[in-house]
Amino acid sequence: VKRLTVEPVSVVRQLACDPCGLVALRNETEFFEFTCIGYVAGYGSICGDDSRVEIDLCQSCLRDALGIWLRVKEPMDSPLVSKRSLFKSGLHGGEFPDE
Ligand SMILES: [Zn+2]
Repeated sequence: VKRLTVEPVSVVRQLACDPCGLVALRNETEFFEFTCIGYVAGYGSICGDDSRVEIDLCQSCLRDALGIWLRVKEPMDSPLVSKRSLFKSGLHGGEFPDE
């Protein structure tokens, strides 16, 4: 038997870009385009063993900093989309066959 309760949970309400200071609130489109990097550096890291490393980047600063190395793939490049033509609704449609 499971008995449920409701507890308050912390969520990120606002992000600020470290390089440019752009602020985005949780309900804004820009918020969802932030890249937030956070990790604990390992042994031999140039940041120091066990150091916590963090940065929050808006999409413009991400592009400015890493643009030429970003591997940006259009949705059509995803394996599922490119194989969509192989889907035959009469054969693979299960409970939703062709009319
Ligand atoms: Zn920025």
